[in-house]
Amino acid sequence: MSGGHAAARTLAGALSIEALTAGYGGTPVLHDVSFALQPGEIVALLGANGAGKTTLLRTLAGLMPARSGIIRLDGTNLTELATEERARRGVALVPEGQSVVAELTVEENLRLGSLWRHRGSARESAIKAIYELFEPLARRRSSAGHQLSGGERQMLALGRALITEPLVLALDEPSLGLAPLTIAKIFGALRDIAADRGLTVLLAEQNVTSALSIADRGVLLDLGRVVADAPSRELLRDSTLRHAYLGF
Ligand code: ATP
Repeated sequence: MSGGHAAARTLAGALSIEALTAGYGGTPVLHDVSFALQPGEIVALLGANGAGKTTLLRTLAGLMPARSGIIRLDGTNLTELATEERARRGVALVPEGQSVVAELTVEENLRLGSLWRHRGSARESAIKAIYELFEPLARRRSSAGHQLSGGERQMLALGRALITEPLVLALDEPSLGLAPLTIAKIFGALRDIAADRGLTVLLAEQNVTSALSIADRGVLLDLGRVVADAPSRELLRDSTLRHAYLGF
């Protein structure tokens, strides 16, 4: 892959997962997983409980090692890099259960998220931009994380990830435990943000219809292997696949 300044200027958020194998102790979970995301693409990562979605996102963020295979961001091999270095290069993960500090206020959580990316007035405008994206957060800026509703907490988790200005945003079941209307709002915001900023999004979800409603493509995992990788419309039309893997 090309390096140096030319590559730095063309950074765009192309992510490729190449023959990735990972697992816990002696137990392999992901087997030879390969797929790619174009810059600005939203890809839904689908599969039943235990299919390996969380394992894949954790391996992408560097929270667990790959046994073999390569993860590339815009051509750069991330596989050996530490979590912080991957974050600095533009990989943000919103883990399941949401990464919000319960004791801190909304504003403090956002400030914390922006620490290593912005200083001074740039930090204030970055926080303001998140409030513009998610109005309920502006109203709750002085409330502690633990006082927020599930939807507000998910918005804050998303805001904290977005304030780091990622190239690739990986989300682990952001719809979990939320009311349908709240899911629609958050997914709508996610689609708009991805379109506006050219953000690449990997969206691990059990909520298949909501995920495919905003995703360009879906990648379906079964027992740690890719069993389908196709445009959302095709996946929704494929009744055999739907019945076998997606449960509807
Ligand atoms: P879910 O939707 O339930 O979160 P998932 O698709 O995200 O499922 P993973 O959480 O990646 O799946 O789990 C994949 C497999 O790895 C499962 O068989 C699970 O039991 C196993 N696993 C997950 N975490 C651990 C761990 N810490 N130690 C050992 N095995 C684990």
